[in-house]
Amino acid sequence: MARYIGPVCKICRREGAKLYLKADRCYSEKCAVNRRPKPPGQHGDKRIKLSEYGLRLREKQKVRKIYGVLERQFRKYFAAADASKGRTGENLLGVLERRLDNIVHRMGFAGSRNEARQLVLHKHVLVNGKRVNIPSYQVRVADQIVIREQARAQKRIEIAIAASEARPQLSWLEVDKKAFTGTVKALPVREELNEPAIREQFVVEYYSR
Ligand code: SF4
Repeated sequence: MARYIGPVCKICRREGAKLYLKADRCYSEKCAVNRRPKPPGQHGDKRIKLSEYGLRLREKQKVRKIYGVLERQFRKYFAAADASKGRTGENLLGVLERRLDNIVHRMGFAGSRNEARQLVLHKHVLVNGKRVNIPSYQVRVADQIVIREQARAQKRIEIAIAASEARPQLSWLEVDKKAFTGTVKALPVREELNEPAIREQFVVEYYSR
């Protein structure tokens, strides 16, 4: 299972926005977007006006990086979203949001999607009572997520739970942080997915060109 393992703060600087790819660092003074708000590299200072195509490409890359998905998988998600009823862009966000690593992060049990991915890979997450170690697993409505007892004492989970209190509560997730459990009550609500900001229509236009 391939994944990006390079420096992640460079990605945020490239996109010119906080994508929250690290845990508590993203909320601290040390965030690279605050400290060096320009694209990485020798020519980062140069102002480049993006073409219409360039804007759409950058948005697609941004969304892909936020959820930690490689191009091939992302294309598959797009194809599935396009084949489903409703708006393709919203469908795409729905598929990405229902990834198990994202849900674990959204519930507050991991400081970032990367951290959540590791929890899942290490078999610390149960879905409806069964161990699931596939980060891309598609969670369904009414599924119950539990952090296994063996993992609950981990410091990073404690830190993540404390940090998540500052984030807005999502109406489609029900979480009992003390019991390390959560339930997906409904499909993701687009209006609640605004941090970081996403222009999914640009992604649709990128693949429809
Ligand atoms: Fe790095 Fe997080 Fe800041 Fe992005 S938001 S630059 S990942 S610290």
